[in-house]
Amino acid sequence: MSDTDARTELARIARGVRQALGREDARGLAELLARDGACAPRVAGGAVDVRDTTPAQSRGASTVDSAAPSMSSPAEPIATTPARTSSAETDLFGNPLPAAPQSAPVVVAASPPSLSPVIEYNPRGRAEREAILASSLPLIEAAAAEIHDCRKCGLCETRTNTVPGVGSARSGIVFVGEAPGADEDAQGEPFVGRAGQLLTRIIQAMEDAKLVPGVALSRDSVYICNVLKCRPPENRNPLPNEVEQCSPYLLRQLDALKPRVICCLGKFAAELLLGVKGTIASMRGRVYTFRGAKMIVTYHPAACLRNPGYKRPVWEDMQLLAREYLSD
Ligand code: URA
Repeated sequence: MSDTDARTELARIARGVRQALGREDARGLAELLARDGACAPRVAGGAVDVRDTTPAQSRGASTVDSAAPSMSSPAEPIATTPARTSSAETDLFGNPLPAAPQSAPVVVAASPPSLSPVIEYNPRGRAEREAILASSLPLIEAAAAEIHDCRKCGLCETRTNTVPGVGSARSGIVFVGEAPGADEDAQGEPFVGRAGQLLTRIIQAMEDAKLVPGVALSRDSVYICNVLKCRPPENRNPLPNEVEQCSPYLLRQLDALKPRVICCLGKFAAELLLGVKGTIASMRGRVYTFRGAKMIVTYHPAACLRNPGYKRPVWEDMQLLAREYLSD
């Protein structure tokens, strides 16, 4: 083997090792989560079946609760999931990591690494996704048009713009937040303010870490929406009547998008879609189902801004999301 061939081979092996180590690191976090029984009590035999929900009012699910990670509520206690030192693949949503230098001298065994194989999302699933994407477009547009003209609650008097949602059914991942804030109201797009920028970085971190191999994750390929489609004045909590009037739009969107995994961001989305009240700490770390989709709960990005200690559990939740996405 010539020197050039040897160098090329060595670089190829080093690349493989770096990728494998990255995957192992991601798995390590998932295992930490799984080992933390109190925090990740996955129900034996599969997901907790929440079944189809009815609107919040018929379940008596008042959405006002002092523990909500909403704009104005106090932060919840930090989750007890053990912290892990910063991973080379992610920096918890703040700073883009520089690409690993390709020429780093890594000494490895001569044979190609055979650590964990990459589990790619299956091609059949991908073809189904494309079909769902196509069928969802007119339905999502029709819902947005109705939302645009909606006058079912008092929020229509104070809104600047309606905020139906952004993104697509391409990946099959849907993030559901609480309600638009001032920036969202001004732009007509969800999650564009500070909390939204953090959500965008969370999605980017998932993409950078290749949490779902074979599925490109971005604001365009996921769908992002809220329980309420109009801004509550002064960012107050949504009122039960507003949730009752508005939630059918969310259900229509979910029916059209046929998500593979729904991620509830914060208490209002979680309580609405789970049909039960609780703290995020008690609801996260489990896998539920909602109208055929898997569903997880995590802290709202606004709660992460108030309490950066939530970013680690959020990252663990994104790994849980990815694991569920890839499993049957
Ligand atoms: N918070 C939300 O819950 N939704 C948004 O769109 C923005 C902030």
